[in-house]
Amino acid sequence: MGYHEGMANHRIFADLHVHSTASDGLLSPRELLTRAKEAGLAALGLTDHDTLRGVEEGLAAGLELGIQLIPGIELSCGWPDSDVSLHVLGLFVDPRAPALVDLLDRQQKSRHVRALRILDRLEALHIDVTPLRLEFQAQTDRVLGRPHVARYLHEKGFVREFQEAFNRLLARGKPAYVPKEHVLPADGVAAIHGAGGVALIAHPGFLPSWETLWLRIEDLPWDGIEVFYSEHTPQQIDFFTRFARDRGFACGGGSDYHGEYGKHANRLGLFGVAEEHFRDLERRAAQRLLDTQRN
Ligand code: AMP
Ligand code: ZN
Ligand code: FE
Ligand code: FE
Repeated sequence: MGYHEGMANHRIFADLHVHSTASDGLLSPRELLTRAKEAGLAALGLTDHDTLRGVEEGLAAGLELGIQLIPGIELSCGWPDSDVSLHVLGLFVDPRAPALVDLLDRQQKSRHVRALRILDRLEALHIDVTPLRLEFQAQTDRVLGRPHVARYLHEKGFVREFQEAFNRLLARGKPAYVPKEHVLPADGVAAIHGAGGVALIAHPGFLPSWETLWLRIEDLPWDGIEVFYSEHTPQQIDFFTRFARDRGFACGGGSDYHGEYGKHANRLGLFGVAEEHFRDLERRAAQRLLDTQRN
């Protein structure tokens, strides 16, 4: 693909977007760090959906393995009057910051309720989800999402492929779709800043009608934007690189690796940011941390 050619002189220093078993990834934080180290990365940003529960294990494993773990988060944000889901990345956050932890606890509970409602809908379609329901009921630590359901449907043969579970059942507008409760973007950004982290717009190339959406979020105190995302085209990378430069934003990037399944398989270590971008983010986070201590 053209993507790799375009990135030929872009040496990956850090992958700043991966998911672990704390949310909907297949590998534990320790396993992710082991693989990231093997792939030659200097740092890995753990950005589970709406949880920081993987961070402690990740920090310990990172120290042991000699690779830096950046505590992060991918917050599902949105507005009550809109269908758009805006993912916000927080990087270099303090995993014990009370306001962020409180917000995540609420999100985790509402995701649990939502996951069970998705199962109710599948049952109404005569799909047997009893084993998964039992699993969900026993797992109160994990942040649940649709990929858990999609994997189950695939493993049990209700769909032929992981992707088909979304296309037929779980995607917006499909019969087992249940919306998430969204955090307002302004609240998400504030919680990340309160935790001494930087806030980035995740995978902007995946947002429907970027021009319109940007008008809605342009006044928020963004630190950066995820330019080097594994599914951005070379054109999108160019566009968002210029966008970031024009506005003085830092550039983030990563694989969105969830383990060896689905569209993000085989991507760990192949996508991310060069060292100069990493240092820029690090510097901005240090400034945010100072700001929280002054307030
Ligand atoms: P959730 O957080 O439960 O809404 O699930 C979101 C996750 O599901 C995303 O991070 C993706 O990994 C995956 N996902 C969402 N939509 C799709 C889709 N249409 N096809 C495949 N995976 C998807
Ligand atoms: Zn995910
Ligand atoms: Fe996302
Ligand atoms: Fe993600």
